[in-house]
Amino acid sequence: MKNLVVITGASSGFGAEMAKIFNADGFPLLLLGRRTEKLEEVAKGMDNVMIDSVDVTDYDQFETAIRKAEDKYGKTDLLINNAGLMLLGNVQDQSPKEWQTMLDTNVMGVLNGTQIVLNDMIEREHGTILNVSSIAGKKTFTNHAAYVASKFGVHGLSETIREESAPKNVRIMMVAPGAAETELLTHVTSESALSDYEAWKKTMGGITLDPKHVAETVKFMYDMPQEVNIREVDIATTRQDA
Ligand code: NDP
Repeated sequence: MKNLVVITGASSGFGAEMAKIFNADGFPLLLLGRRTEKLEEVAKGMDNVMIDSVDVTDYDQFETAIRKAEDKYGKTDLLINNAGLMLLGNVQDQSPKEWQTMLDTNVMGVLNGTQIVLNDMIEREHGTILNVSSIAGKKTFTNHAAYVASKFGVHGLSETIREESAPKNVRIMMVAPGAAETELLTHVTSESALSDYEAWKKTMGGITLDPKHVAETVKFMYDMPQEVNIREVDIATTRQDA
């Protein structure tokens, strides 16, 4: 049996595509998200898959799910910290609750997952943590202040932990996608931010990334031998100019 792969935010978008591609290659999986019925849909027909309803901001819930899967499949060799959300809005009027939700999920969620698996990886001198950031983790976009803050956070913590873990042969990787059609935009409450986004999308010919290509990229990064770390990949449609 291959090593255990844990994917957060596996109930839709990039995470669901990653689940399909790792399952097709025979990896046992733990798929996490808050919506059980969506996780069940993704896992339907797959062998060696566990699902668990977990909020990544809840450390204990997150850890319990991972330990349960490790009891069955062995230690986690790959954790993909993919769960996240983007609530667009202008700081002048966006609710601070939306900032808090983004920072808790996009930053604290990644730190939680990392601590839960990292110590075992360091002890074994083997393992990979791949964080899903964003192009908004390296450059700014209007109406994205709090999201940009959270994703700059993911860039910063990933590189810091990579430096700390490198001597122990543990890989910290990051993928930074551009715009893609997933459920991400469905949670945006600001009508004006949404219409600005739609106008921007038109400048790219209305074409956004197919989540499948992000999943294939992640699989390629992980499949490199343990001594090779593809530290960071930026992936966006060719027509995305920002
Ligand atoms: P989706 O909305 O389709 O997927 C987000 C996933 O995160 C869902 O499975 C959702 O599951 C999960 N999630 C959200 N909050 C929590 C939480 N508190 N606990 C556990 N799971 C949670 O969007 P994407 O696939 O696009 O997003 C995946 C990642 O990609 C995010 O980190 C996002 O920031 C990043 N990204 C997306 C881009 C895009 O344009 N789509 C571009 C760049 C980066 P559930 O609701 O069931 O909990």
